[in-house]
Amino acid sequence: MTESSVIPGAVVPPPPSQPFPPRGGRAFEFDAHAARAQFPILSRRVNGKPLVYLDSAASAQKPRAVIDAMTGLMETSYANVHRGLHTLANETTEAFEAARETVARYLNAETADQIVWTKGGTEAINLVAAGLGQSIRAGDEIVVTQMEHHANIVPWHMLRERFGAVLKWAPVLDDGSLDMDALASLIGPRTRMVAVTHMSNVLGTVNDVRAIADLAHKAGALLLVDGCQGAVHCAPDVQALDADFYVFTGHKLYGPTGIGGLYGKRAALEALPPYQGGGEMIATVEEDRVSYAGVPHRFEAGTPPIIEAIGLGAALDWLSGFDRAAIAAHEQALYAHARDRLADFDWLGILGTAEGKGAILTFTVDGAHAHDVAQIMDRYGVAVRAGLHCAEPLAKRFGVSSSARASFALYNTVEDADAFVDALIRAREFFV
Ligand SMILES: *Cc1c(COP(=O)(O)O)cnc(C)c1O
Repeated sequence: MTESSVIPGAVVPPPPSQPFPPRGGRAFEFDAHAARAQFPILSRRVNGKPLVYLDSAASAQKPRAVIDAMTGLMETSYANVHRGLHTLANETTEAFEAARETVARYLNAETADQIVWTKGGTEAINLVAAGLGQSIRAGDEIVVTQMEHHANIVPWHMLRERFGAVLKWAPVLDDGSLDMDALASLIGPRTRMVAVTHMSNVLGTVNDVRAIADLAHKAGALLLVDGCQGAVHCAPDVQALDADFYVFTGHKLYGPTGIGGLYGKRAALEALPPYQGGGEMIATVEEDRVSYAGVPHRFEAGTPPIIEAIGLGAALDWLSGFDRAAIAAHEQALYAHARDRLADFDWLGILGTAEGKGAILTFTVDGAHAHDVAQIMDRYGVAVRAGLHCAEPLAKRFGVSSSARASFALYNTVEDADAFVDALIRAREFFV
């Protein structure tokens, strides 16, 4: 059969009346100004200047779609979930479970009941660590990396303190990439868990999660991926990544605070003991025994963050209206533009230059404390973060006591990138 032949009986679609715009041409470019217009807060001024918000890696702003979904729920159809037989309870339950399905689709989870709601990324990691803690023995090993957020360090430290687990640290190379050879050599027969970030919130480094999954699984260990940044910027596909657990947080995904969650492979979730006890997570409760509900409800004790979960669902529905690759290309272009304009300044130190990194620009200014730099930039309406970025071991690795960070999101524009560079140059003049 040749390419142009027609299968007998097949319905042949009519040719499009208009030729499709060429791929990769302007027609496919991401319209950041149009996206930005959907974020009410971004039209405000700060210190008399237009707001240039470059702190989305700490928390992203919320589009109108999210604000409306949350207020709309409270105004029209709110009740507690699962328990009721009345109309409002049923409507809210339906919206709440639909949001779980939206998350499952967004992450490409096999089924929606592999998504556990938590109050954020931090709680999701604590849930896994607490469960693992119930079977950990002294000398069992947990492998982390030097680029982890404290949320993916401290819960494992607690297993070290309480049960004698051993933390092993995979080093970060000078360009901010993970030393994969060293990581491979740290994973062994006593490794129970490998816990790595998908994308570093400081360096922007994107780790080869699939390769790490293979290393962990070959040793019989589980892999937990901290996707708090990766879920936003790396188009995560949990099945392709082969992660046993994948953690995300709502407020960095253009959704509300107080909501996040955990994806788990079915077997991994079913092997995990319950986290908190209470209503909603049980099958039966008697005076002398208790039995638990199935996954995921077993991990969701008490009234969940209902409004927030539905808000996150609205955020992901809204986000899915865009081409993710186009968003990523847009963010990369902003980062590259800022980097290019800053390339010749010898007073600037840049942390993280790994290939394929995300649009996070973390920097130090010679002779200036990062807090002072950030405060001066704020006078120009430019919001950047400064400090340790919840990653103290990484700061130590690079020998810095603090750094400033500009993180780009879909609503940032080339004007924002220029305003950032201009404000940084002006801030630096205070220190010469
Ligand atoms: C923000 C962040 C966390 C913590 O998320 P919370 O929403 O604060 O619980 C964990 N890891 C990374 C990489 C993050 O960026």
